[in-house]
Amino acid sequence: MTTDRTTGGAGRVLVLNSGSSSVKYQLLDMRERVRLATGLVERIGEETSRLVHTPSGGGEPRERTGRIADHEQALKAAAEELAADGLGLDSPELVAIGHRVVHGGLKFSEPTVITDEVLAEIERLVPVAPLHNPANITGIRTAQALRPDLPQVAVFDTAFHTTMPEHAARYAIDVETADAHRIRRYGFHGTSHAYVSRRTAELLGRPVADVNVIVLHLGNGASASAVAGGRCVETSMGLTPLEGLVMGTRSGDIDPAVTFHLKRVAGMSVDEIDVLLNKKSGLVGLCGDNDMREIRRRVDEGDERATLAFDIYIHRLKKYIGAYSAVLGRVDAVVFTAGVGENAAPVREAAIAGLEGFGLAVDADLNAVRSGEPRLISPVDARVAVAVVPTDEELEIAGQTFALVHN
Ligand code: AMP
Repeated sequence: MTTDRTTGGAGRVLVLNSGSSSVKYQLLDMRERVRLATGLVERIGEETSRLVHTPSGGGEPRERTGRIADHEQALKAAAEELAADGLGLDSPELVAIGHRVVHGGLKFSEPTVITDEVLAEIERLVPVAPLHNPANITGIRTAQALRPDLPQVAVFDTAFHTTMPEHAARYAIDVETADAHRIRRYGFHGTSHAYVSRRTAELLGRPVADVNVIVLHLGNGASASAVAGGRCVETSMGLTPLEGLVMGTRSGDIDPAVTFHLKRVAGMSVDEIDVLLNKKSGLVGLCGDNDMREIRRRVDEGDERATLAFDIYIHRLKKYIGAYSAVLGRVDAVVFTAGVGENAAPVREAAIAGLEGFGLAVDADLNAVRSGEPRLISPVDARVAVAVVPTDEELEIAGQTFALVHN
């Protein structure tokens, strides 16, 4: 019998996605490619913290409520829940911990084993990802303290987009200023765009290298990407995840002069403008709701503000589909993913409506099917495929982490 040089035949990977007040975790066995457990700790630091742990294989979710003071306690609580299922993090089966890290700048185009130097570089990127990288760093430090002997791997949200050509990545601003402050389009949700574009090629039964895809990742955050032969050539998020599509609470594209105007004329501070555009804009700013289910319910009742919000959301999507069709030249598939993209049939229908000239159409019956599987929703004779491909960022992070430590 052969054993692996580095992992000794074991194959569990813990994936951590650490936010400022939450930690999402999943334990996967990458030999069997199965999920063993998933969990979420939210409202860390508050009296109303909550942990929900779901064992795989039909086990009932378990919940803990009450204050969880910090990320260290959150991870310890998660470890206890895993241990109760016989999946303790002290097990020799666990071969690595994979961390979602939002901003990897230009340095990190691949998953990377975390050393002191790597951690220092992630810290240097805090000014361009002030909301995300600090939480990711806290998650890494906490996991390192728990299992200092294990490889910890960073999988960057920006990595998939580092293949963008310079003419797509650069903003048309003074080059010296841009370079001095590392201002350029980095793009985010890269793990999802990578996974979904690859799965789309599989769905079409064609090699990744032959397929051009527009991926629409529509969750609470939303981004589009143009992927040519497996390489990202354009994406809608920029220096930060604020640019591009209309999102749950973020404005997406606006004239940058709106910010000067808000400061000079409305007297708002930079921090207030930051909060306005990141937290109080998008769907929530337009109609008071950011959940597409609620917005659709209101649209169906004839609510005007919700209808306008929906129309603005769809209009922006169409603009990006058109723009990315031009960037790619030939499009083989337009793919919907994430919470809205996977579940909201009316969004898919409306975004594709009227795009027959691009070879795009949606079959109403196929679009109405609810399924967790990748599927086509375009008519059988369509020139361009329209598909729904559920994203799985954790599986992708675990896969990349395992591949790195296993070789
Ligand atoms: P995500 O960020 O990918 O988890 O997506 C979260 C968003 O997905 C929510 O804010 C909802 O707007 C949307 N969503 C989830 N389920 C549905 C559904 N059944 N119908 C419409 N939208 C949904």
